[in-house]
Amino acid sequence: MKSWKKLLLLLPVLVLISQIPFAYRRYKLGRLHAAIQQTNSQRIATQDDFVEYKGVMHVHSFIGGHSTGGFDEIIAAAKSNQLDFVVMTEHPSKNFNTAEMTLKGVHAGVLFINGNEVSTAQADRLLVMPGSESAADTDQHSTQDVIARAKVTKATVFVAYPEEFRSWDSTNYDGVEVYNVYTNAREINPIVMFFDGLWSYRSYADLLFATFYERPAESLRRWDSAIATRKQGLVAVAGNDAHANVGLALKDTSGNTLLGLKLDPYERSFRLVRVHVLIPNGSILDTETLRGAIAAGHCFIGFDLFSDTSGFRFTGSNAKETRIQGEEIRLESEIRLNVTAPISSRIVLLRDGNAIQSESGLTRKEFVVTVRGSYRVELYLPQLPGSVSEQPWILSNPIYVK
Ligand SMILES: [Zn+2]
Repeated sequence: MKSWKKLLLLLPVLVLISQIPFAYRRYKLGRLHAAIQQTNSQRIATQDDFVEYKGVMHVHSFIGGHSTGGFDEIIAAAKSNQLDFVVMTEHPSKNFNTAEMTLKGVHAGVLFINGNEVSTAQADRLLVMPGSESAADTDQHSTQDVIARAKVTKATVFVAYPEEFRSWDSTNYDGVEVYNVYTNAREINPIVMFFDGLWSYRSYADLLFATFYERPAESLRRWDSAIATRKQGLVAVAGNDAHANVGLALKDTSGNTLLGLKLDPYERSFRLVRVHVLIPNGSILDTETLRGAIAAGHCFIGFDLFSDTSGFRFTGSNAKETRIQGEEIRLESEIRLNVTAPISSRIVLLRDGNAIQSESGLTRKEFVVTVRGSYRVELYLPQLPGSVSEQPWILSNPIYVK
């Protein structure tokens, strides 16, 4: 047989062999899917003095450019995810007030806050909620000026993309977006994702997130160290950074899509990670109570795709009082830090960013601490198969023991 004929025969064999890992990865996503259903069925409800509302932050529409998403699509996605709120963060325009033009108030039972994502003269980026017309020229102003101007209107300000942020010594910002789906998605290897998509997109499009989801170690480190150096609380939130434009597409020569692999349509993006907010019983959810609770750190980050995180609680008590996440408590002889998880999990306690204690297989855990510091917890689900078991399922806000 001629050598080119041999090669021709060998080619399909090689193609088949190359696909074995991706078939196996599809099988693994199937196992993860089954495990999540199992875990979700074991959830237990929490009863306390708070009503929990879940929503997403950092959402773009067609108003702010580089997104094609329409309002109807965003409202429908929020509804189908049973979200209570959505924080819009439109890029500004020189010619019009994008915050004024985006979704705000209640639509189809979902509360919208009309924010901006702005870039400053130092190329730092901030999320400002609510936004305003002053967003139009933030690139001419220093980061500190932009924060100060936002504070004149009592807006809430978050550091976005903390891994690139330079102005940590600015004052008066409220918190840090410690996890961003879009930033994490930059780690995707397009070739691997292409074949994963071929094998798994049809059955497990949501769970493709599990193939690249990773604890945002560097952002968490910067957040923890900013709290330590400023000696002031900073709230952590997660951003979906939903544009409905992340993905891969294979087109033919006339531009028809042969394989469209959209990783972040709003409906899917809103399912991955959410901010859960605690509002005292008896208060209603509106723009003021929602912004107040977020700015106070009465919230946590839940990767709900891997099981619903609703019901997670983190409190600190001394002999006189009990405080919730985001708050300060005075150290007397000791502080009891209590964690309640809706599902049996591995609970890791961190002080000033360093893991100091950890225990597995618990829905309740009390840590007794006697040293001042910023305490927060990360919860994991080791019962899930694959790499997801080693990535956080819940990130709390800190309790500051003073
Ligand atoms: Zn963005």
